[in-house]
Amino acid sequence: MIRAFFALTLPDAVLDQIERLQAAIPFGRPLAPENLHLTLAFLGEMTPETLEAAHEAAETLAPAPFAVELRGLELMGRPSGGVIAAGVAEEPRLDALAKGLRSRLAGMRIQLPRERFRPHVTVLRLKPGDADEALVARILGRHAGFRAGPVPVTGLSLFRSWLGAGGARYEELARYPFVPMDGRDNF
Ligand code: ATP
Ligand code: MG
Repeated sequence: MIRAFFALTLPDAVLDQIERLQAAIPFGRPLAPENLHLTLAFLGEMTPETLEAAHEAAETLAPAPFAVELRGLELMGRPSGGVIAAGVAEEPRLDALAKGLRSRLAGMRIQLPRERFRPHVTVLRLKPGDADEALVARILGRHAGFRAGPVPVTGLSLFRSWLGAGGARYEELARYPFVPMDGRDNF
C-alpha cells in the first residue's frame, strides 16, 4: 500500500519565514523545511491502481493560478500530542480547489472522509511534556500576528508519505501545474 496525499508546496521565502517562527518557539519538534506543505486532500493507504486513478483525477484540474497568505497560529489537537500550525487567510479559490479535487476523486470512486477542509501548514509537533496549556496559549498569543506569503498556487503535488521512527518523509510523486484550458477557471 502507498500512503499518499495531495498538497501545495511553499516558496523558499515562506519556508524562511516559517523557519524563523520555529526558532522563536521554545518547545516542540519543528518540521524540516523540505517537509513543510499545505495538505489539500489526504488519501491514506492506496493500492497502486487506486493511486493511479487519483493521479488521473488530479490531471483534469485546470484553474487559473492564484495566491494565498499564511496568517496566525493555532494548536490542532492537544498540547500533549497535537501540532502547532499556521493558518491560512480565507481564500474562496483555495476552498474551490480542494472541493474540485475531492469531487474529481469521488468521480473515480475515491471517497475521502467527510471532514471539513481546514487549510493549515504544520510547523511543529508536540509530544507529552513539551508544553502545558498555559505555555502554548502564551506562545500562540505572542505569534497571533504571524503572516507569511504570498504562496503562489500555480499547481499541486501528489506526495507519498514514508512513515518512520524519526518522523514521516515525503516524496513528490507527481506535479500538476495549472494550465487554464480555455481561459476560464476549471476547478
Ligand atoms: P506522522 O503521522 O508520523 O506524524 P505525518 O502526519 O507528517 O507524520 P502522514 O500521517 O502521512 O504524515 O500525513 C501526511 C499529510 O496528510 C500531513 O499533512 C497530515 O497532516 C495529513 N493527514 C494525515 N492524516 C490525515 C487525516 N486523517 N485527515 C486529514 N489530513 C491528514
Ligand atoms: Mg500523520
